[in-house]
Amino acid sequence: MDAPPLDPGLYIVATPIGNLGDITRRAVQVLEACDIVACEDSRVTGKLLNHLAIKKPMRRYDDHASEAARESLLAEMVQKAVVLVSDAGTPLISDPGYRLVRAARERGIAITSLPGPSAAITALTLAGLPTDRFLFAGFLPSKAKARDDAMAELAALKATLVFYESGPRLVATLEAMATGLPGRELAVARELTKTFEECRTGPVQDLVAHYTAHPPRGEIVVLAGPPAATPAPDVASLDDELLAALADLPTSKAAAQVAKAHGLDRKALYARALELKA
Ligand code: SAM
Repeated sequence: MDAPPLDPGLYIVATPIGNLGDITRRAVQVLEACDIVACEDSRVTGKLLNHLAIKKPMRRYDDHASEAARESLLAEMVQKAVVLVSDAGTPLISDPGYRLVRAARERGIAITSLPGPSAAITALTLAGLPTDRFLFAGFLPSKAKARDDAMAELAALKATLVFYESGPRLVATLEAMATGLPGRELAVARELTKTFEECRTGPVQDLVAHYTAHPPRGEIVVLAGPPAATPAPDVASLDDELLAALADLPTSKAAAQVAKAHGLDRKALYARALELKA
């Protein structure tokens, strides 16, 4: 039986992150009924459509597509039902789609989103770390300095941090987390929903040792629990620490060092360091 026609517009459709059984019934219905499937890679999406015995015209789309390519897809949405999928998981989550959705909203095109798998949420539900507050931080930069700066920005945040990672970079990232995100409980979730799914927690040194001995394959989410609650130091002892640091370091570095040690605001400590020097 033919699927009932869909209204024109943009349909954001989440797809499985490994286990094809995780496709939702509604995702299948919308893929069956749509006119066009916009995807990152037609070979990857072609396999999924094949598995579902669905044949649809596919258009390659990513956020680096030319304005002209985006405009032509937007123009189709006025008359046709266009589905956006990514290679796996929820589109727009470290995947293309943001620019397309933004442009579609600006033009008043109807948009709806069909929820489904996402590695970040799956990992959060598995790791046993606090889930009441979390921050999805996507992929860390690949260059060490930019990665360390990104971690420094997040270090004081009282929330579980969620990162996407790849096998070859995992050990270096964990080593950087040992100093960049001190005192946080870590979890490594791998190959989620697949045969060799695992979620490993433990002290960072143990995780580094394990993954150095067993170089990980496949796709990975790294989670860092909130910083361990430490009693706030009193003002007098903070001043002492600042003065000690100022004896060896320039003001900004001294402030940064003490701020990092206590998860405090660097600017506030910099201002206090200037007062102490004066
Ligand atoms: N949009 C996807 C989502 O909703 O999860 C994420 C796409 S992003 C380009 C790919 C990254 O997601 C991988 O490098 C990995 O960090 C994570 N990932 C995707 N599938 C995964 C899986 N089955 N297990 C663990 N991590 C996964």
